[in-house]
Amino acid sequence: MVKLKALLRQHLMWVVLLAVMIPLMIILVVQYRSLVELERTLPIANKAWMRKYLVTVASQVEDLYRAEAEETLSVPRAAFLDGVKTMRWDEVVAHFESHPAKGMRRLFIGYTGMEGRNEFSLILFYSPAGPKCGAGFMRETGSVQWRAAHGASATWLYHGLTGGQALPGSVTKSSIITVDERDPENRIITRPVLGDDYKVIGVVGMILDDDYLKNEAIPQAVASSMPKFFPDDHDNITVALHDGGGERLFSTHPVGDHKYEAAEPLQFIFKDWYLKVQSRGMTGEEDARRVFALNLSLTVLMTLLVLGGIIMALRTASREMRLSRMKADFVSNVSHELRTPLASIRVFGEFFKLGWVKEPEKIQEYGGYIENESRRLTQLVNNILDFSRIESGGKTYQFELADLKNLVLETLRAFDVRLSQTGFSLKAKVSDEPLIAFVNRDAVTQLLMNLLDNAIKYSGTSKEILVQAGRREGQIAISVTDYGIGIAREERDKIFDKFYRVSTGLVHDVKGSGLGLSIVKHIVEAHRGKITVESQLGAGSTFTLFFPGAEDFNTKNAREKSAQAREPNMQVRVN
Ligand code: ADP
Repeated sequence: MVKLKALLRQHLMWVVLLAVMIPLMIILVVQYRSLVELERTLPIANKAWMRKYLVTVASQVEDLYRAEAEETLSVPRAAFLDGVKTMRWDEVVAHFESHPAKGMRRLFIGYTGMEGRNEFSLILFYSPAGPKCGAGFMRETGSVQWRAAHGASATWLYHGLTGGQALPGSVTKSSIITVDERDPENRIITRPVLGDDYKVIGVVGMILDDDYLKNEAIPQAVASSMPKFFPDDHDNITVALHDGGGERLFSTHPVGDHKYEAAEPLQFIFKDWYLKVQSRGMTGEEDARRVFALNLSLTVLMTLLVLGGIIMALRTASREMRLSRMKADFVSNVSHELRTPLASIRVFGEFFKLGWVKEPEKIQEYGGYIENESRRLTQLVNNILDFSRIESGGKTYQFELADLKNLVLETLRAFDVRLSQTGFSLKAKVSDEPLIAFVNRDAVTQLLMNLLDNAIKYSGTSKEILVQAGRREGQIAISVTDYGIGIAREERDKIFDKFYRVSTGLVHDVKGSGLGLSIVKHIVEAHRGKITVESQLGAGSTFTLFFPGAEDFNTKNAREKSAQAREPNMQVRVN
């Protein structure tokens, strides 16, 4: 259980990421599937909507024609009741004149009767301007329209001839009006004139006007329903009217090359004519594809943003956690580092106080220990102080011209006691020529001390150290090599971070603050130099400090600074 918790904590970032990723992926898949479904159904829904629109237009046209027919063809039956000889023509004319129909070309009436012993049926066309047969009516026997009118009125005339046969009692207004389209040039609506008990006593009909339908009725119906069905994009919709032969008679906009998305026939009259609709620009399918692509990319973008945000938050959190863990380690390490030399110094001090150490060699040896331990203490305290100054941005260095060769040799001499106490042998390969650079002497000594101290701490069983100083790649290079535990490749950049300590293997047993190398890096960079590390795990490491020689220390202000440097003490601020 504890192990599991530790494992979870260690891989917190991955655990959280997984906890977020799984539901996110599920949402993404569900979203994708619904988008695919939407892409499939959107064109269908679009088409259904368009079809509904066309049906509405068609039924508006139907209502219009029914209303017109109902009004114009409802000649009062009193005009017919007296029979043919005494038909009240004036009443019929008066009705037609007071109820003009918009969509008709001609009006006619039909009736049956007896002449002597002979039955007859008659169709008369209303022709206000023509020769009179009755008041304003004329026969047009044999004409195409006369034939069509006969065809359309046949049922009603038949009822008239067969003795005024009663229609079923359930006759309604809508069923009483009939349409005959056998002759497409002369489409006719008829309405019977009914006497008592629904007996047919005559018929009134109208021949329809194509032009009115295509030029007025359809355009008006198309326009009046458009805002309701396509409130935002009615300009994107093209509606067209095609006749029975497929010829286009009307369209709201120029018709595009792509096929119509929906078509519906007219109802009631002109039933072989079709209303058709298409989107201008994109078709329904293309639009659905566009919506799909847009939604999908938005979803993916949002997912990436969410993931990015989560990763950033997790990284920050894990960095903070690592830092706070390193800080805690730092406090315990430093306390240990302080306690050990202080304890040694106290013990040796007590020996001296109690007069237990008399022999000069022992005095020298113990004195050496005290000196060495105090030096380590000083170095540690210096490191901590420097670190806090560097962190607060208040660390400054005063540079002066110095021979690094001498500085290295002096530092090695000061380090001699520590080396001999720890049983190390040190080899120094130092160039013969002077290595002059602008440096802060104390800072460079501190650098070397840190590197030498690390070489001792991380040498494992090896007891050799090599220090080299000379010119390399046009710069002054000072390197410290040990043959100890080495540093894994993936750790090589991290060891220069503040508080960072390699936490595996032998290193664990060696105490340290994790500040040394971060300070070394700061100092060497403040000298416009750099530090590199070459290492092989188990075989040792070489840390190399590079300093620009005095001759090329700085480009622009180096010259003026070098003038000052002869009078030392110029300041460089390190952040
Ligand atoms: P510390 O006080 O822990 O030595 P440093 O900043 O000096 O802190 O070093 C950081 C880490 O780099 C050390 O904890 C150690 O793991 C690694 N390191 C430094 N120098 C060496 C070396 N010469 N050989 C192997 N590892 C080293």
